[in-house]
Amino acid sequence: LPEPDVAALGRDDVAGLLPRPGAESDKYRRGVLGVAAGSHLYTGAAVLAVGGALRAGAGMVRYAGAEEPVAQVRAHWPEAVITQLRRPSVDDVGRVQAWVLGPGLGTDEWAHELAASVLASDVPVLVDADGLTLLALDSALLRRTAPVLLTPHAGELARLTGADRADIEADRLRHVRAAAAELGVTVLLKGSTTLVAEPSGAARVNVTGSSWLATGGTGDVLSGIAGALLAQGLSTYDAASCGAYVHGLAGRLAADGAPLTAAGVATAVPAAIRTVTSGS
Ligand code: AMP
Ligand code: MG
Repeated sequence: LPEPDVAALGRDDVAGLLPRPGAESDKYRRGVLGVAAGSHLYTGAAVLAVGGALRAGAGMVRYAGAEEPVAQVRAHWPEAVITQLRRPSVDDVGRVQAWVLGPGLGTDEWAHELAASVLASDVPVLVDADGLTLLALDSALLRRTAPVLLTPHAGELARLTGADRADIEADRLRHVRAAAAELGVTVLLKGSTTLVAEPSGAARVNVTGSSWLATGGTGDVLSGIAGALLAQGLSTYDAASCGAYVHGLAGRLAADGAPLTAAGVATAVPAAIRTVTSGS
């Protein structure tokens, strides 16, 4: 491992943390996730994030977006509850237990106002991709008391903290810890391994992935998976580390020694969860 002084979650740890429905469960109590992602240019990111969330066991996924991504999400996921937004606000979307904000969202004024609306809520928010770019442009967006989980790759982290990308790559653990402490939020740093750090300095590494995951859209699927775990009540730290574990395993199952697609990773999520929980 390139990160010697950081622990990895094992299969049993993840099995113990992953939520399972009980006899008392209903779709609302299992966790409702809101997804604010996608734009007229990037409709696929919305489809992939919603897919990751549905496959990871959200009780319900509420998708909120503009006309074009709404049409795509509706076509791919009849399970999703969809709101086509007339204005950049999630006030009329209904109650959710957590949000995923950012994949394919764009960075225009509409996206900025939508991000502000999501972050003004009182539930945990996972911010990825264009959402991270918006935070880099307007750090005031991060002024909230409910939990935040950021999921940058090294380039996105560099934009967020002003650190040099090459410096981050040379010491990823130090930089993810520094970012979590500086921003006061949980940070998941993507790459060939995935690091998760808390403001306290606590950190975990995940190595279940596959280098076949280095392809477009897989990060959007991770956002959906970790978001679903947040909506089901896991802390940002556990949702991030269990989400990375399940996503990495799904990547391995989807690849099996050959190229995978991001949609294939989402499809493999239930099998990955079965692998984790079987026998426990
Ligand atoms: P993104 O950077 O948002 O497109 O997300 C890419 C996803 O693929 C993240 O979950 C990364 O951790 C994963 N990934 C990218 N490159 C590699 C690699 N070389 N080995 C393993 N996982 C990777
Ligand atoms: Mg990404």
